[in-house]
Amino acid sequence: MLTPERLALYRQIMHNLTQGNFQVELPEQVCSPELGAFEQELQQLADWLSLQFNEFNQLQTITAEIIKGNLVDEVLARIYAAFQHLIPYDRIGCALLSEDQQQVQAYWARTNYQDHTLLVKGFTAPLAGSSLEEILHTGQPRIINDLAEHLRQHPNSQATALLLKEGIHSSLTCPLIAEGRPVGFLFFSSCQPNTYQGLHQKLFINIANQVSLVIEKSHLYQHILDLNRQLTQALQQLKEQSSRDALTGLLHRGAIMERLTESLAEAQRHHRPLAVLMADVDHFKQINDGHGHLKGDAVLQAVSQTLQASLRLYDQVGRYGGEEFLVVLSDSDQAEAAVVAERIRQAVADLSRPELAVSISLGLACWQGEESLESLLSRADSALYRAKAAGRNRVEAAA
Ligand code: GH3
Ligand code: MG
Ligand code: MG
Repeated sequence: MLTPERLALYRQIMHNLTQGNFQVELPEQVCSPELGAFEQELQQLADWLSLQFNEFNQLQTITAEIIKGNLVDEVLARIYAAFQHLIPYDRIGCALLSEDQQQVQAYWARTNYQDHTLLVKGFTAPLAGSSLEEILHTGQPRIINDLAEHLRQHPNSQATALLLKEGIHSSLTCPLIAEGRPVGFLFFSSCQPNTYQGLHQKLFINIANQVSLVIEKSHLYQHILDLNRQLTQALQQLKEQSSRDALTGLLHRGAIMERLTESLAEAQRHHRPLAVLMADVDHFKQINDGHGHLKGDAVLQAVSQTLQASLRLYDQVGRYGGEEFLVVLSDSDQAEAAVVAERIRQAVADLSRPELAVSISLGLACWQGEESLESLLSRADSALYRAKAAGRNRVEAAA
C-alpha cells in the first residue's frame, strides 16, 4: 500500500534530486511488488543522475584547465585522478603521432603499479600496419578485452607485448583528433580481462575530445612560445646593434647615458657606490694630422678594444664624443675606480709605438649619493681637464 508517509518520502527524494543530492535512502521493507519495482527505478535514476553529474563536473573542471592554458601533462594527470569512479582503469596512456604521421610515440603514462611500467615515454613504433592505424580509419574507440588474444593476432606489436608484461588485459583506445587531424591516441587499460563495455565508450569519447583540444592548444601554445622567443631574440639583437657606435663597436653616447641613468638608479636603490671615468685621447688632432684620418680611426678602434678588454663584465663603456669615452663602474668606490682607471691608462699607453705615441687622460668622479647625473659628469669632466693641464697620460680624481 502506498501510505501518505511513503508518498512524502518519495516527494522528498525527488526534491533532493533536483537539488543535486543523489543520496536515496528508502526503508528496507517493501510495501508491494509494484512499489518495490518503482523504488528500484528511483534508485537507478538517482545513480544515473549522480554519474552524469559527476561526469559533467569532471569535464567542466578539465575544460577550465584548458581555458587556463594548462598543458597536456597536467590535464592527463588530472584525468587520471578524476575518472577513477566513472570508468575502470589501472593505467592511462597517451601517445602522439609524429609530424609526418608515420610514427606513434608514447608521450605519457600513469599506472597504479609505477614500479613495473614498461611502455614508457619515448617508445616509438611505426603507425603503418599497426592496429592503431585501423582506429584512425574508423575514427571510433576500440575495445580489446583480451590483450593476450590480440597479441596472438598481432605478434609483431611490441607495445602489446610490453603492456601484457605490465599485467594489462583489457584496453579502451580512442583516436585523438584535433581540428579534423589525428594527433594521437588515448588509452585506458585494466589488469582485468573483459573490463570495458560499450557503455564506457561515450564518456571515453568525451574525454578523448577534451584531450585532443588540449593537445591542439598546447601545439599552438608551443608554436606561439617559439615564435615569441625568436621575436624577442631578434628584437634584442636589433636593440643591441642600434645601441652600438659604428666605428668602435662601443655603446654610443645615447646608450651609455641610458646605462648610466639605470646604474645610478640602481646605486640609489641599493645604497651602493658608483664611479664614472671620462677618458680623452691625448693630442689626437696631432695623430690625425701626422698619420692621416684613417690611421686616426684605427687608433680609436684600438683604444676602444683596449678599454673594453680592461674592464670587468659588469662595467660599461661607451663612446661619448669624437675621441672621448665614458666608463661606468657600478658598485665601485673611489679606491677601486682609481685602480681600474690606472689599469686602463697603462693598457692604452702600451699601444704606443716608436713612430706613434698613444695615451689617454682620465677624470674620475665618485657618485656622492643624491647627486644628479649632470653634476657627476661635470665633476668627471673637470677632473679630466685637470689631468690634461697636469701633462696628460694621467688620472685625476674629482674632489
Ligand atoms: P687633447 O690632448 O687636449 O685632447 O688634444 P686633442 O688633439 O685630442 O683634442 P682636440 O679636441 O683638439 O682634437 C680632437 C680631434 O679628434 C679632432 C677631431 O677631428 C678628431 N676626431 C673626432 N672624431 C674622430 C673620428 O671619428 N675619427 C678620426 N680620425 N678623428 C676624429
Ligand atoms: Mg683629445
Ligand atoms: Mg676631446
